[in-house]
Formats: sequence, structure tokens, C-alpha cells
Amino acid sequence: MPHLDPYFKEVDGLQGKFIDRLKSAVAIPSISSEDERRTDVVKMGEWLAEQIRAVGGTVELRQLGKQPGREHLDLPPVLLGRYGNDPNKKTILLYGHYDVQPAQKSDGWATDPFTLTMDDKGRMFGRGSTDDKGPVLGWINAIEAHQKAGVEVPVNLIMCFEGMEENGSEGLDNLIEEEAKKFFKDADVICISDNYWLGTEKPCLTYGVRGCNYYSIEVSGPGQDLHSGVYGGMTHEPMTDLIKIMGSFVDPDGKILIKGIDDLVAPLTDEEAALYPPIAFTMNDLHESLGSEVSIYDNKDDSLKHKMRYPSLSLHGIEGAFYTPGAKTVIPAKVIGKFSIRTVPNMEIDAVTQLVEKHVNEEFARLRSKNKMKFNVVHCGKWWVEDFNHPNYTAAAKAVERVYGVKPDMTREGGSIPVTLTFQAQLGKNVLLLPMGSSTDAAHSINEKLDKRNYIEGTKLLGAYLHYVAGELVHPSK
Ligand SMILES: [Zn+2]
Repeated sequence: MPHLDPYFKEVDGLQGKFIDRLKSAVAIPSISSEDERRTDVVKMGEWLAEQIRAVGGTVELRQLGKQPGREHLDLPPVLLGRYGNDPNKKTILLYGHYDVQPAQKSDGWATDPFTLTMDDKGRMFGRGSTDDKGPVLGWINAIEAHQKAGVEVPVNLIMCFEGMEENGSEGLDNLIEEEAKKFFKDADVICISDNYWLGTEKPCLTYGVRGCNYYSIEVSGPGQDLHSGVYGGMTHEPMTDLIKIMGSFVDPDGKILIKGIDDLVAPLTDEEAALYPPIAFTMNDLHESLGSEVSIYDNKDDSLKHKMRYPSLSLHGIEGAFYTPGAKTVIPAKVIGKFSIRTVPNMEIDAVTQLVEKHVNEEFARLRSKNKMKFNVVHCGKWWVEDFNHPNYTAAAKAVERVYGVKPDMTREGGSIPVTLTFQAQLGKNVLLLPMGSSTDAAHSINEKLDKRNYIEGTKLLGAYLHYVAGELVHPSK
């Protein structure tokens, strides 16, 4: 068992400094989706680079050129950092992001979003506190506490911190591809701290995310919007056709009705099924976060399986529909229905699209409508799943047990984190998601926060993980 107590003690001793560090980071409004904040994003990147240098790391601010489609803007730099270069040590690649979602006090924040404010429960409110400035600084805190405790960092670290994560990670995929065999070539495994626990008490390790195939269907016919009193009954109506097609995709209990989709889903193995019962999550948690009791399943395990490892199909909206209040008797001339499928192993993007398109064409043909129908693929991103028996995961599990005294929940995210897939595909190395924050942190929402406990114990966890992964990569326990 690694000798970590001096390190843990040092983290406790330095917590005031670590909180000040987060406060300085939150004070820079590095909003990547707002043009006028771009200089702040760059400023944040430079500030972070300085933090890396201050603990003895080296860092290059890699420029990515102009932002595609918005050529008046330079993309913020990706920080390519390094700490340690010992050929006898294993090398861990860390990914995180230093940009944040938009925030204004007038959105409903109780405090100024760019002033880190701690309440009496130890909740530290501020934009970026949990997503993702706290976790990124956790790595730097961990290095500093090692030095002050006189404990050697047992691995080399390679850092990849971007400033466009909340705005499509523009330019990142190309950079990872270019650097896979250069800057990233020594990486033995990858660790990303940029998601959340399922609840508030028990840490988790995340080994998968669902993909998303997003489609639209355009139905048009009449040359312009029509009056139903004048034309109703004499003409094929686009909305009627569209609703019929969109109504054919999924049952009210979530079952996807598109033929062949279920056959693509990887069967549940016993090993995987056994991961669900220990997960700390209740139907009450679900109902609380739903804000009502409209859950499809009446038990936790089925609910989680359908979020994490089965596909779902959602109807999102209809462009061109008359949706404002009132009783206008319009027949819309053109409507566009939007829907998406959250995909899981082994649903390949193109195989799913073929089945969906075939289904849409058949449903439309059955209507014998004289309207025109067009099926479109809007965007698709693949799912990602990782081998959770890999030393990267067994190491993280041991680190969680050491710091928090519990075995971590093994989870998959229902949403997407595209960078996981890029790293896995380009580097061919195991990727681990090791979150710091909890489910109540409200990332992307008003009053985003990180609990002091999660930040300080989380810093211990990130440091402890480095020791366990150094050991497990040499002598795997599984
Ligand atoms: Zn994030």
C-alpha cells in the first residue's frame, strides 16, 4: 500500500491556498461561447499555464488558428503540459478544460457567478467551480502537496487542457490526431476528471458514455401556409404526415419500435449486471431530480440500465409548427420534426441510420401522401465504453477506497463526452473518467458549486490515484 499519509496531511494543511487558487480561476470569466469573452478565455489559459510552471511543469500554449465559421476569432490555445520525464516511470495523460458555460447574475444566481463564495455548508458557488476548473486545479494541487510533503510523484504527467470544451471542442480532434505519436506518445493511460458522481455521498468511476444520432424529417407540400377553413379537407397536410411518422418511433414506455434496432444492442453480461445493485441511487433520488414521479421503471436497476446501457429515442420538437398560444386555424406548409437516438454498444452510427431511414421511408409510403418528405442526418457521435478490469480502473478503485473508505460505483453516462472516444481511438490507450464533483453541483446551470469536501478529498483522490496506477500498471491485481 503506498505511503500516502504525509501527502494527505499536506493537502489538508494547504486547503486554504487551494481554495484561493480556485477563487482566482473562477474570477476569470472564460466563457468560450461568447465572442466578447474570448480574451478572458485566453487569459485563463495563460493563468493556468503559469500555475503549471509554478509547480515545476513545462507547458506549451498550442495555437489552433481561427475559429471555423467565425474567422474574426482566434481559437483559445490548448495547453500541452508536462511534469516529470523519467523513463523508468509510467506516464499518465490528463485531460481537462479551462473554459466555462455562460453565466450572469440576472440568470437567477444567488451570488455573483465569478466570485467564488462559500456558504456555511461548505458549498463553493461559482461558474466553473465544478466544471471543470476545480478538477483541473486538483491535479496542480496534488503536485504541490507532493512537493511540500517530500513525496515523489510516482508517474510522469502529460497534460492536455483545452479552452473550447463548452463550445464543441473546436480544433481538438485534429490536435489529438496530430500529436498522438508525438506529444502524447508516451502516455500509458488517460485520466479525465470532468463528470459527476451519481449521488452526493459515494464516488464513482465512469467506464462508458452513450452516443447520439440526431435526425430530422422535413415534410412540405403547399406553396405557402393555408387557412383550414378554405383548404382543410382538400389537401394533404404536412403536419399530419409528420406526426404519423414521428408517432411510429417509440412506445410511451420507451420501447423503440424501429425494426432491427434492438438486435444491435450488446447483450447484458452477468459481470455487467452485477455492477448495478451496489450503486448508491434510489428511486427517490430519481424522482427528486425528475421533479415528479414520471419514471418508466419502478426500480433502480432497470432505471439505471436504461439510462446507461440501453438506447433511447426522444422527440425534440417541430420547426414550423404553430406552437404559440391562441387558436390560429393555420395549415403549416412545411414542418421539420427533430428526434435523436442515444446509442450504446454495439450500435454503429451508419447501421442505425440505415434502419431509421428505412423505417421513415416505409412509414411515409404507407401514408400515400402527395407531400414531399426529406430525411436528414443532423449530427452523430459514437458511444464509448472501456474495459473496467484494466489496471487504470483497479487503481482508481483502490484510490477511492483509500480516500473515501468505500468501493466506487461503476457508472456510465447517459450523455456524451466525445473526447473520450478521440483519445481511445487515436492513442489506443485505456481511458478512465474519475469525477471530483457530485450530482447536485449544477454544472451548466445557475448556482454551480463544488463542495469543499469534494475539492479537498478529490485532490487527495487524484494524487492517490497516481500512486495506485503506478503500481497497478506494473503489477496488475486483476
Ligand atoms: Zn466539463
